[in-house]
Amino acid sequence: MNRLQILIVEDDPPVRNLITTTLKANEYKFIQAGNGDEAIRQAATCNPDIVLLDLGLPDMNGVDVIKKIRTWSNMPIIVISARSEDGDKIEALDNGADDYLTKPFSVEELLARIRVAGRRLAAAQTNAGTNGSVFVNGNLKIDYAAGCAFVGEDELHLTPIEYKLLCLMSQNVGKVLTHTFITQKVWGSSWDNDVASLRVFMATLRKKLEAGPDSPQYIQTHIGVGYRMMRVE
Ligand code: CA
Repeated sequence: MNRLQILIVEDDPPVRNLITTTLKANEYKFIQAGNGDEAIRQAATCNPDIVLLDLGLPDMNGVDVIKKIRTWSNMPIIVISARSEDGDKIEALDNGADDYLTKPFSVEELLARIRVAGRRLAAAQTNAGTNGSVFVNGNLKIDYAAGCAFVGEDELHLTPIEYKLLCLMSQNVGKVLTHTFITQKVWGSSWDNDVASLRVFMATLRKKLEAGPDSPQYIQTHIGVGYRMMRVE
């Protein structure tokens, strides 16, 4: 039995059936909610490990469910949205969702996203016992206190912005960060040309960080959305 408990928030019976069947087959424990109000109640009383949240709920916008849960918990939230709700998906990420799936999604996609969230959870629990001043992910090591980063034995020669970007991504490893979130954290503003600059800085950072910039291992691009640092085994 998988020990993770997942809260499924979905009002559409066929989608809900697909999710519950998949989770059952993969031995995940789960609880369900069909609207936002019930979702908030279940999240508070059952304290699930991961939330799968449909954005289009009958009683409220899923983004409001995220805002509410984020007032007391950092539990991974994976948003499920229809293509017509693309703007909502970005708003959901900006309000603290970790990841997203777009309908229609495959069972494999769903399971992959749950595994990523599970790893983020495990990493957060491991890091809770340390002082968190050194970050390690695969061959990447960041010494926050000393302000330097290494791949294997080699120190990365990063510009201050590249280093800031790398730290921000590492502090949110496993999470999809939107362009707006990143530009606000790095530049303190979010203009269209900041997003263009972000692309440039991300490209130079990747050249230094990734062994093969064409098949990045650490930083994943989400076109039209943002970036995510992957957990590397
Ligand atoms: Ca719905």
